[in-house]
Amino acid sequence: MSDTSAAKPVQAKAVREIRINPIVPSQSVLVATARSLRPKKEEAPAPYDARTFVETCPFCKGNEDKTPAPIAQVPATGDWQLRLVENLYPVLGDEHRNPNFSFGMQQTIDGYGRHEVVIDHASHGIRLHEMSEEHLALLLSTYRSRMEQLYHSNDRLKYVLLFKNFGPAAGASIGHTHSQIIAMPVVPDNVQAEVRNSAAFYRASQGCIFCNSIDEALTFEATLYDRESGEVRRKINVGQFVIERSRAFIAIKPFASRYEWEVHILPLKHQADFLDATAEDLADLARIFRRTMARLNTVLGGVQYNFFFHSLPHGEEYAGNAQSFHWHIEICPRTSIPTGFELGSGLFVNTVCPEDAAERLRSVVLPS
Ligand SMILES: [Zn+2]
Ligand SMILES: [Zn+2]
Ligand SMILES: [Zn+2]
Repeated sequence: MSDTSAAKPVQAKAVREIRINPIVPSQSVLVATARSLRPKKEEAPAPYDARTFVETCPFCKGNEDKTPAPIAQVPATGDWQLRLVENLYPVLGDEHRNPNFSFGMQQTIDGYGRHEVVIDHASHGIRLHEMSEEHLALLLSTYRSRMEQLYHSNDRLKYVLLFKNFGPAAGASIGHTHSQIIAMPVVPDNVQAEVRNSAAFYRASQGCIFCNSIDEALTFEATLYDRESGEVRRKINVGQFVIERSRAFIAIKPFASRYEWEVHILPLKHQADFLDATAEDLADLARIFRRTMARLNTVLGGVQYNFFFHSLPHGEEYAGNAQSFHWHIEICPRTSIPTGFELGSGLFVNTVCPEDAAERLRSVVLPS
């Protein structure tokens, strides 16, 4: 973890337990809050560049000739608010260099795909919670329309991944705020695992596991007592994992959070595909997204993070999963570097109990 936070820690009981991720059980988490158990190296707080313009930055206004011609620009003419360009150093490309190959244990899939950059805002160092809700809604609708175009552009593209890296600890190599869209020739394994496991849950219980966890987060209340001493062993309170709630969305701290300050945002009503979100939904999402990031920023005193969208993959083989899969955004603040224990065991170590993290995030007072 990183108790790099400005806020005072919540007085909490030490926790040491392995929490099973209900959706992908293989991604379990060791929650170990005692200081002596911390096997992690803490990240320094984000060195934050608040400049609005940097002369040498290829994404700043006036330097448009330093990026490839835009795929889209909003508005299309005049003073732009955001731009979509090709990545100059794509991880996947649309030429066919190496056809699929298989030799003994060596197997490859052609690195076919698209890799694009969304310049989220004209202002160089602006942080997400500092953008206006109107601007964020515009950004979200740009994500959605580009995702839709890419799915329709080529049958070989199996998944479109939207993500953002903010801050060097999160892997951002350019300081100017931006996000990325990678259209891939395969559905990533973690998305497949979510789709597969939520489908199994649906078959067993006729319900969406994501909707179930929302219901549970909103309504569950219980106290477990120790049978011998009668002491309270665990208290489960209403809304203890809820960070924010809006008309159409909810921000939740997952019970088995891999990252200390991880938060997920989901539509309250069941929806499998991000592309089905309406303009009204996106305006509402902009608000809850901005407020959630503001909370993280306050508690962490500057937040470096990755976020990514998980939406139902397109393609016939996934059409049957519309009832069981539920799209969501995973926000993963980076406050520590994984160590050999985590890489070697595949078990994430979280040193802040998710209930306490949720309480700290909720207690931030935001200007309305
Ligand atoms: Zn810039
Ligand atoms: Zn659902
Ligand atoms: Zn996910």
